[in-house]
Amino acid sequence: MRSIIKVVFLSVVTMCLFLPSALADNSVTRIDGKNRYVVAVNAAKKSWKTSSTVVLVGKEAYADALSAVPYAYQKNAPVLFTNSSSLSTDTKKGLQDLKTKNVVILGGTKSVSSKVTTQLKAMGISVKRISGKNRYDLAANIAKQMNSSSTAVVANGFAYADAVAIAPYAAKQGYPILLTNDKGLRSETSAVIKSRGVKKTIVIGGESSVNKSTYDKLPSPGRIGGANRYEVAANIVTKYNMSTSNTYISNGFAYADAASGASIAAKQGKAFIFTNEKTLPKATRKIIGSKKITSFSVLGGTSTVTNTVTSQLKNPVVGKTVFIDPGHGNQDSGATGYGLLEKNVNLDVAKRLNTKLTSAGALPVMSRTSDTFDSLQTRVSKGASAKADIFISVHANANDNSSANGTETYYDKTYEATNSLKLAQNIQPKMVSALGTRDRGVKTAGFYVIKYSKMPSVLLETGFVTSPVDSNILKSATYKDRLAAGISSGVSGYFR
Ligand SMILES: [Zn+2]
Repeated sequence: MRSIIKVVFLSVVTMCLFLPSALADNSVTRIDGKNRYVVAVNAAKKSWKTSSTVVLVGKEAYADALSAVPYAYQKNAPVLFTNSSSLSTDTKKGLQDLKTKNVVILGGTKSVSSKVTTQLKAMGISVKRISGKNRYDLAANIAKQMNSSSTAVVANGFAYADAVAIAPYAAKQGYPILLTNDKGLRSETSAVIKSRGVKKTIVIGGESSVNKSTYDKLPSPGRIGGANRYEVAANIVTKYNMSTSNTYISNGFAYADAASGASIAAKQGKAFIFTNEKTLPKATRKIIGSKKITSFSVLGGTSTVTNTVTSQLKNPVVGKTVFIDPGHGNQDSGATGYGLLEKNVNLDVAKRLNTKLTSAGALPVMSRTSDTFDSLQTRVSKGASAKADIFISVHANANDNSSANGTETYYDKTYEATNSLKLAQNIQPKMVSALGTRDRGVKTAGFYVIKYSKMPSVLLETGFVTSPVDSNILKSATYKDRLAAGISSGVSGYFR
């Protein structure tokens, strides 16, 4: 009986130890495909079991896809792509699977040839084409096919990312996306604004995309800008408070994947953001952090969005601002022993931690990055102005007795006592296993930086510079790197 109770107890403990971490990584689903046609078909199938109407765009004709999404949304149609010269096999199969009866081709015969039309008709599909003399004219002609709207979006016809980023919102609102260029307001665009009775315009992109003179010619304009495509997309999510319960994300330079993503984000009323191929850009991390996004659908294969990016998205530290404070500096050496100056050890560990956290997807901020000195008050106020989610002060220990050794973590109960303790408990065992030092445990102390920092905060004593054992460990780059990795994984554990 006893042993059964023990077994039950142990399995409950085991479940508690392993289940929460397994459950609380962010959720990431990849909508994959061997090429852009398949990605688009797979994206469509996520939202449509069958689709009587499909909007079809040429694979190289990104400009044709810019205005597609709001139109496709009104037709309750996904956006698919084809080769220009003949209907792509994967798309053909997609149309059959979706039981499509009508195809609307956007763009001229250069983008989607008349052979494609013939092939579609041979499948029993009726075909309509919306074309234009140029991208501006095409966008205007698409707008004319939409329900009337007193508001329109205006974007640069060469900045497809801007147009695609606004597409889910524009679609939901029934706003057409009109195009212009950096030289001035296009006549096709001003004509359709007039004929459609547009009273209000939303301009996407900074002044390099839609310049001031164009802006001033538009009816009641408002601008959503940003330093780059990632920031523009993030600003759209913030401005319109888009639903982030499952956020779509694509490579900001993979236009077909982006347009497919925008199309299903529109259908599902979800936010849509961009990444680059290898790592999450800063603006994207910021919006993930500020909106506390924990669920993502990634558009495209590993060649457009690498597994490094999906690992970052899965990591609960993604988008979190982690303040790293390497203790002491300049005239204040901190503890000394065995040729070590604590200030240098702290800075070295902190820099490595900064690197690890950055690769994990976080937004670390350091109180110092070189041998400079800040008062304790300054460190606390730097952490506060960084709006840090957590505060980590990095130190090394000292004792008159050289036999004192080991690793310990401090927290203070003044602010965020429970979370500070949780943070300490996550980091301490990771440091110990990284360094193989003696575990001195988690302790409380009213050290200034953790007493006055209002966010969850800890002070790490990585090892004793006065110990012959610990000082050797703290001299080793390998150990310091393992230590930084351990702290970083403890931080992820805290957010999990
Ligand atoms: Zn210190």
